Amino acid sequence: MSVSQRIPRDQRRRFRTGRPCLDFTHTGGDGPYAVWELLHTPEDVALYVGGLLDVELSVVDADVAALKPLRAALTNAARGAARGIPPSDADVAVINTVAATPPLVPRLADGRVVLTPGTLPQALSTLARDAIDLFSSPLRDRVRVCAAEDCGLLFVDASRPGLRRWCSMERCGDRAKKRKARAG
Ligand SMILES: [Zn+2]
Repeated sequence: MSVSQRIPRDQRRRFRTGRPCLDFTHTGGDGPYAVWELLHTPEDVALYVGGLLDVELSVVDADVAALKPLRAALTNAARGAARGIPPSDADVAVINTVAATPPLVPRLADGRVVLTPGTLPQALSTLARDAIDLFSSPLRDRVRVCAAEDCGLLFVDASRPGLRRWCSMERCGDRAKKRKARAG
């Protein structure tokens, strides 16, 4: 079983934004995001951060706290991008600092990228580099917050017209349509 398949079924919808750096922000956080926290132990970090990158990670106790500054910076940058606001200098500095360390090593296998098992600092660098790629590309204007009131998940709208409103058509889109049908 691959690492991503170990993520419990009821948590998998958090990891479908289309970008690992955004999936990472869905693992929890400070303030309003604390109720969503998934990362309490090194085992949690190996499961969820390893899962969203689909790689085996060796995680030590100190990693649980060490991941938080990058996660907060990515959350700020992503939620800001969804409102058309560029990232703050402080958040950019955190992202750049983490990206400057060695990332997980990619390998080409059967026409796909497969990450070589590594450490959490390497995984954080990989996530920070994904964020640098995203926030320097036209897709930064396609970062959205799901329009469903009780959802709030991020996604990247890669559709050609750029009018996607929901994190998933199966879940939030379908429920919105049913509500509209009942109201109509
Ligand atoms: Zn949604």
